[in-house]
Amino acid sequence: MTKLEVVFLGTSSATPAKKRNLPAVVIRREGEVVLMDCGEGTQRRFLELGLGINKEMVVLITHLHGDHVNGLLGLLQTMSMSQRGKRLTLVGPEGLYLWVKTSMEMLQIGLSFDLQFVAARPGVVLRREAYLIRCARANHSVEAWSYVFEETPRPGVFDSRKAVALGVPEGRKWSTLQHGRSVTVDGRTVRPREVLGPRREGRRVGYSGDTRPSATLARLFAGVDLLIFDSTYATRDADKAADRRHSTSVEAAELAKKAGVRRLALTHFSARYRTVSALVKQAREVFPETFAASDGMFVDVPAKAQ
Ligand SMILES: [Zn+2]
Repeated sequence: MTKLEVVFLGTSSATPAKKRNLPAVVIRREGEVVLMDCGEGTQRRFLELGLGINKEMVVLITHLHGDHVNGLLGLLQTMSMSQRGKRLTLVGPEGLYLWVKTSMEMLQIGLSFDLQFVAARPGVVLRREAYLIRCARANHSVEAWSYVFEETPRPGVFDSRKAVALGVPEGRKWSTLQHGRSVTVDGRTVRPREVLGPRREGRRVGYSGDTRPSATLARLFAGVDLLIFDSTYATRDADKAADRRHSTSVEAAELAKKAGVRRLALTHFSARYRTVSALVKQAREVFPETFAASDGMFVDVPAKAQ
């Protein structure tokens, strides 16, 4: 089974803390990288964590607040200086491309690679062979988006005994059936469903960015394997969370429970808390499968039991 892992580069909110950098999270799958938000210092975190910036990469930006995008120009500039040739796809709010383009022109940063921009909109915004990116509106103080990374489902397990019983000779025809296409044996058609088990669903990872909880997000994140959610505040600061359009750790847990996710990673912690243990404790009372993300943490997303 292909390894799918999430790497936390920065888990602080608006300002960096001693041990927490500004927001950035990576999803790694077979040499491909999906970077979600790009706070200041993200390119250094790539170096420190040995992630490599010249891989196939998609960058998803949730919203145009400095703590979520200020690392982007530096990252693009370094990629160019190291002669990146691979295309890079950038997904985010409409204004993002104008900001990047204008800044690059003013700073005379020429790109060595093709930069493709896709404006965020509700639904599927990007399709790759191995995965797709789904998107929905978040509820923050500016236009903001939440994302789901979704692996492409795989065909069911091939039952060789059934294939033999149906007279399909081992070889190319088996492989054709395994890839979900019918074959003909002695004038008779054998369909994939006759020899394959149920389709194996892909793994899914959700990322909220800055947001209040909402019914839209509960739908977007329904059943994800790992949900990474805004947990800026503790319950005692719930009024601030409502005011600044963020969430408390308990609100994140309530949404995780409602959406029926497998695990919840709390992130985007306010620098006001010396430790986040109280936030995690409060959240676990609502949703036990909760943990606090920390900088440099690698989290494996295991395959579902079939
Ligand atoms: Zn924000």
